Amino acid sequence: MLGLPGAGKGTQARLISQKFKIPTVSSGDLFRDHDKNNTELGILARDYMLKGAYVPDDVTIRMITEWVSLQDKSKGFILDGFPRTINQARVLDDILTNYGGLDMAVYIDISVAEAINRISTRVLCSICQSPFSLLDGVKEGDVCRTGDGGVIYQRPDDKPSAVEERLKVYSRETQEVIQYYQTRDNLRTVSGAISINEVKSEIISTITSLENERYSTDRRSI
Ligand code: ADP
Repeated sequence: MLGLPGAGKGTQARLISQKFKIPTVSSGDLFRDHDKNNTELGILARDYMLKGAYVPDDVTIRMITEWVSLQDKSKGFILDGFPRTINQARVLDDILTNYGGLDMAVYIDISVAEAINRISTRVLCSICQSPFSLLDGVKEGDVCRTGDGGVIYQRPDDKPSAVEERLKVYSRETQEVIQYYQTRDNLRTVSGAISINEVKSEIISTITSLENERYSTDRRSI
């Protein structure tokens, strides 16, 4: 899942994961877990995250490789927030040689203005990480509406100075990753400016048409 901060990558990754029963992971959530648990990776990543900078590739790659190695190979997986640099994209290609390669890179397209607007009003549940908007009357310290007992908080890197840095580093590093997948014809772009359910339907139909294409290619070669 690719897209600007606030594009809805995490929300859609969770919905698609439930629909197709495949695991998903968010590199940002993994880093936040490591940070909370004071692990070696968490300590290494902490300062970068707070500033809105990318965590160095070697640390990020180590963390994702560890997660991937724990997954059931036959199922595949959805990655949210990885890769974000060309180097990470190349390493992912290597990892995926054991999985038959990448199926698709979904790019959720929103404008920078929309990203800033969403991030500045976004709060999250400390347990399920579901995002809510201050505009809907949810505020920091509230109990999560899903009933999981989580407390609503604002991510420290959703504060304006870190957001500015995240947008800068995104255009410096991650735009190139989008080009990389576009050149290889792996990129599928969906608008992120429509409702959550509409984005979900668009992604599902993109996945279904890829499956159909593959099915008819297989049939032709029989
Ligand atoms: P965003 O909303 O900006 O997409 P995430 O929750 O995905 O934020 O990530 C939070 C932070 O974790 C990033 O700003 C960065 O510091 C770190 N991070 C997450 N994924 C990566 C990655 N693939 N490479 C480097 N740093 C990462």
